[in-house]
Amino acid sequence: MHDLVVHFRAPTGSLTSRLLPTDAQTACACCGLAGATLTVNETPLCLVCAPAYAADDQQIDQHAALIWLPQLDQGSLSRLIRAAWTALLVWSPGHPGRDRALTILDDLSGRRETATEKIGTYHPSHLRLAVSTLAPHHMFRRQGAVSGLRILPVAAWREQNSEALSKLLINRNTAP
Ligand SMILES: [Zn+2]
Repeated sequence: MHDLVVHFRAPTGSLTSRLLPTDAQTACACCGLAGATLTVNETPLCLVCAPAYAADDQQIDQHAALIWLPQLDQGSLSRLIRAAWTALLVWSPGHPGRDRALTILDDLSGRRETATEKIGTYHPSHLRLAVSTLAPHHMFRRQGAVSGLRILPVAAWREQNSEALSKLLINRNTAP
C-alpha cells in the first residue's frame, strides 16, 4: 500500500512529475486503470493519481491537499475521484448524479480538517519537508504502520488539466 510518510522520504527533488511519451499505453501504478500520461520517480501515473506522488512539483499545495481517510487506500480514492469527475463532465448542472458527485467531493474536501487536527497542516509540501528530516529512530517507531493520510487532487488541478482529463475520463476503460 502507498504510504505517504514512507513515500515522502524519497531524496529531495526526486518527486517531480514528467510527461510520458504520448504513444505510451500504460496502466497507472496507483489506480490500475489505463491512461498513465505522467511519471514520478519512474512510476507511471494517470492525471488523477499523479498529485499524490509529485510532492516536489512547485504548485503541489495549490493542486492537492492532505486528507485523513484511513478507510480507502490511495488507488481506491483515485477511482472514486475519477467517477465523481466523470459525472461532472457528462452531466449538466441540476442532474442528480452531478449533485451526488459534488457531495462526494465536498465530503472528501472536508477531511482536510482532520488531517490538520492530526498533523497540523493539509499542505503536501509541509508533510514532505517534515518527514524528509525525521530521524531514522522515529521511522523505526512507526513499526510499519501505514498512516491514514491520503492526497486529494483539487479543483485547480482538474481545471488546469481539463482537456487531458476529459480525454482520460471518457476513455477510462480502455485496456492498456
Ligand atoms: Zn491512476
